[in-house]
Amino acid sequence: MWIKRRKSRVIKVGNVPIGGDNPIVVQSMTNTFTEDLKSTVAQIKELERVGCEIVRVAVPSVEAAENIPLIKKEITIPLIADIHFDYKLAILSIEKGADGIRINPGNIGGMDKVREVIKAANERSIPIRIGVNTGSLPKEILNKYGRPCDEALAETALSYMKFFEDEGFINMKFSLKGSDIKTTVLANKLFASSCDYPIHIGITEAGTVLSGAVKSAAGIGILLYEGIGDTVRVSLSAHPKIEVKVAFKILSSLGLRNYGVDVISCPTCGRCQIDLPKIALEVEEALEHIKVPVSVAVMGCAVNGPGEASFADVGIAAAGDKFIFFVNGKVVGKFDEKEAIERLVKEVERIANEKENESVS
Ligand code: SF4
Repeated sequence: MWIKRRKSRVIKVGNVPIGGDNPIVVQSMTNTFTEDLKSTVAQIKELERVGCEIVRVAVPSVEAAENIPLIKKEITIPLIADIHFDYKLAILSIEKGADGIRINPGNIGGMDKVREVIKAANERSIPIRIGVNTGSLPKEILNKYGRPCDEALAETALSYMKFFEDEGFINMKFSLKGSDIKTTVLANKLFASSCDYPIHIGITEAGTVLSGAVKSAAGIGILLYEGIGDTVRVSLSAHPKIEVKVAFKILSSLGLRNYGVDVISCPTCGRCQIDLPKIALEVEEALEHIKVPVSVAVMGCAVNGPGEASFADVGIAAAGDKFIFFVNGKVVGKFDEKEAIERLVKEVERIANEKENESVS
């Protein structure tokens, strides 16, 4: 492995182990009102379908906390309650069966309130993610450094770590997020070298799909290369299932996870006579439920197309108004667009089934 992962201790969120040699876990957060049970469950099911492994929901009200057991009944992945400002909602979420909670000790109403949350989490043996952001650093630390910076973030996280440990609580992971990549990376490096707690990584408020994915890939990619990161979330102003897809893409492009369909498609050029971007997207979306790794090529012409397509598990390469169809490097036919796409999807599903069966037998 060209990336040497930091050795972190293992905690569990529900049935998902985090840290140590466990795979880096992909998580996301719903953007529905948690009070709206139906929409929230529907969105989590969509996230499950594309491989999300842990989901976080906002809990801004008693009604949202009351929905936790009802949501959990309908889903299969662990659920984390995200709480700000009100420690009572954190305790209620724990009592209602959240698999973990995420708090920022700096905005929950004082350290005596944090103590009560710790007590409740300890009683139920559920982990807490401690999130530290440049936007909510304690006054004394801000005074010391004069501005929110990487040292300030790391020192704050370490001081919370000590507080929690002094309370006898070690079932925790941390996230340190700055307003830019540099601060986030440097803060995480500082923190990571000072303890072995698992770290959740992400670039906060990264932006819309394109700029957010690029920013996240840069920031998360640097952290992963440094061996840092046990869970990951890509934050995007978009449907959260795109966050999951981007997260897996980042991890698989670095060789850290091998998940789902990898669509190799050409950039197109003056030789391309088909609407390749549309077809590649259509194929990608039709195969977003596949969890085992399968490579698929969608190529625009007969120049490089057949070559590339033949290296993939399944591939199509345009030739005039038809598509040459490849399976495991062998030409198996020539079809029109509709039939080629339908056959491609079916063939990938068949290969994925076969691979899944192999892995359980
Ligand atoms: Fe152009 Fe063909 Fe290469 Fe696509 S595969 S970029 S259409 S030459």
